[in-house]
Amino acid sequence: MRCTECGSEMRFTSEPMKEMYKGGEFTVAGMERWVCDKCGNDVMKADEADRLSRELADAYAVRKSLLTPGRFASFANHSE
Ligand SMILES: [Zn+2]
Repeated sequence: MRCTECGSEMRFTSEPMKEMYKGGEFTVAGMERWVCDKCGNDVMKADEADRLSRELADAYAVRKSLLTPGRFASFANHSE
């Protein structure tokens, strides 16, 4: 597969990728995609892109709940 930006041969990878999401940086593992080492362009299938946005939303929710432990405490009380 050739890069849509610069025409170089792209490399297929599933190594962890770093993404910016809502002002924070998140690392998502196992995303299959083609990357261009020359210009940094990356291309992924639509279903992988969907999974990426879900994983980012989940990771963001977890990070947010860790920053506000009060929410967890009240949730635990309700479930008893
Ligand atoms: Zn490129």
